[in-house]
Amino acid sequence: MVLYDVAIIGGGAAGINCAIYSCRKNLSVVLFEERALGGSINEGTLVEDWLGIPQIRGDELAKNFEEHLRKYPAEIVFDRIERIEKKEGVFVVFSSLHGSFEARSVVIASGARHKKLGAVGEKDFVGRGLSYCATCDGPLFRDKVVGVVGGGNSAFSNAFYLSDICRHVYLIHRREGFRADEELQKKVFERVKAGRVSLLLNKVVLELKGNQLLSSIVLEDVVSGEKTELSLSGLFVYIGSMPLAELARGLGAEVDERGFIKTDEEMRTSVEGVFAAGDVRGKGMRLITAAADGARAALSAYDFLKQVKSVV
Ligand code: NAP
Repeated sequence: MVLYDVAIIGGGAAGINCAIYSCRKNLSVVLFEERALGGSINEGTLVEDWLGIPQIRGDELAKNFEEHLRKYPAEIVFDRIERIEKKEGVFVVFSSLHGSFEARSVVIASGARHKKLGAVGEKDFVGRGLSYCATCDGPLFRDKVVGVVGGGNSAFSNAFYLSDICRHVYLIHRREGFRADEELQKKVFERVKAGRVSLLLNKVVLELKGNQLLSSIVLEDVVSGEKTELSLSGLFVYIGSMPLAELARGLGAEVDERGFIKTDEEMRTSVEGVFAAGDVRGKGMRLITAAADGARAALSAYDFLKQVKSVV
């Protein structure tokens, strides 16, 4: 069996950049991706201010990432990783369909998944009015009334985008202050002034209702406790994300109170030879910081491998 220098779990910006930087250091690399290379930007996000590119569609940038990666000799395996074990100083990576792989070091770049509202009916309306991706599903709601839940950059940028195509957008947030960057807030508040967006503050979504397709939501005012029903056709949820850190936890790596993998500034986890990069660390949570993490993890894996084996 081939013994790789680095096994990278996840083919988003962090994993891909880690593979590129590892190859540049002449390390042998196997990278596992369950779905599409490029990760969450394939969900249709519009990426703004990627250094050197003011604006680009996420799936287009993902293609550029893939082309760039394929210039290097990293082995790419499209499969789900079930677990990783450490045996006699070697990491054994068990994939779902392609058997097991061995590596001297592991970089976990598995990202994070959307948080759910926990509202009644949420499961029933996924794809029937409830969405976690405005750029994918927004065009289905052209000239309709929609809601966006959240007060961070994702909620604001998607509310802004939807206000271009939908009849009206309700931005629903559980308190009065926002996490979104001021510049983005300014853009959305202009849409509020223009009557295209309404802010519903101090509100949480209790229930989604409809017959087959979503037709209304029940909101609760967190201050007064008053419940109201709001008619709409689409609801877009942007309330943050949860780390996909099970593999690291299985190896005994420490996680923080939110479940994100703990690392030092060199991307080293608490387990020797295991590194983490990107959103799974819960730091930065931006494409550019994920890519930077990936490069850093590659260089740290290289330093680690220099100690355990002569790789140069
Ligand atoms: P976020 O910044 O964590 O914001 C999540 C929002 O959802 C917060 O307003 C939070 O409210 C609210 N929330 C959390 N749990 C909730 C619940 N159970 N019910 C109702 N509301 C809930 O997440 P994000 O907007 O997805 O952004 C993630 C990261 O990506 C951030 O670092 C962001 O800056 C970055 N990002 C950047 C860009 C860009 O640069 N253009 C675009 C998108 C995202 P509280 O504030 O009350 O906690």
